[in-house]
Amino acid sequence: MLGEPTPSPYDWRFTLMGFPVRIHWLFWVITAALGYNMAMGANQAFSRIGTTPGIVPLLLVWILCVMASVLVHELGHAIAFRYYGIESSIVLYAMGGLAIPTAGFSFNRSGFRRRLTHANHVVISLAGPFLQFASAIVVAGLAYALGFFVPTAAEAFEWLKPNGISNPWANEGLSIRDPWTFAIFDFYVLVSIWWPLFNLLPVYPLDGGHVVQHTAAILRRSDGYQEAHMIGAAFGFLVAWWFFQRGSSINALLFVSLAMNNVQALQRFGGPPRW
Ligand SMILES: [Zn+2]
Repeated sequence: MLGEPTPSPYDWRFTLMGFPVRIHWLFWVITAALGYNMAMGANQAFSRIGTTPGIVPLLLVWILCVMASVLVHELGHAIAFRYYGIESSIVLYAMGGLAIPTAGFSFNRSGFRRRLTHANHVVISLAGPFLQFASAIVVAGLAYALGFFVPTAAEAFEWLKPNGISNPWANEGLSIRDPWTFAIFDFYVLVSIWWPLFNLLPVYPLDGGHVVQHTAAILRRSDGYQEAHMIGAAFGFLVAWWFFQRGSSINALLFVSLAMNNVQALQRFGGPPRW
């Protein structure tokens, strides 16, 4: 989110669909720390029904699910870049991922260099959350078809569903069956539903913040940064307050720091934009 982290000898590198991927060692550390409580909770729940893979295997499943889900998200950005003729590389690090264009220009068929339009940028910013969310629907659908109960899918559906639609995941006929498959389905769906929604919040430099910046640029014929930072600061504090009231102080602190970054950026502009 905040620029490319420096390469280290402990990074894991591979290629996916032609995109170079680098996973920074901090990614594993932070992901494990974020998932520890969840792995503990799942371990206790499974112990009660008499069968648990144990905390460490559950934590490993969590880490692999986050890796897969965040890779899908960044692939969405990278595929959209490629659609516009720009190759990119993917980096996963402390708090998430980046798709970094390896060249800022694309060449059209007649050989002219062409900068991406603001509308192209909006599409690229939305492609990551979109592909990740779509993968959650596919995996939750697969679990449902196989008769697995996915509590996360049931909860998220309650939250997000339009009125009057019954919740297929609330079906009592579904069961947890075996803890391994349960953990894989539930953790993957959990990350792949909330991560993209989180990222779509209009707080720069989250994806939603980029959408605000490029939309403002289209509407106001500016570069859109001033508008994005103002909305980012306001929403950042609002979201922080929302998390704080729900006792989620880590998320609250994260959004306070994002909001502060936007305030500082605004100060460099000499204040909010004149509407
Ligand atoms: Zn993204």
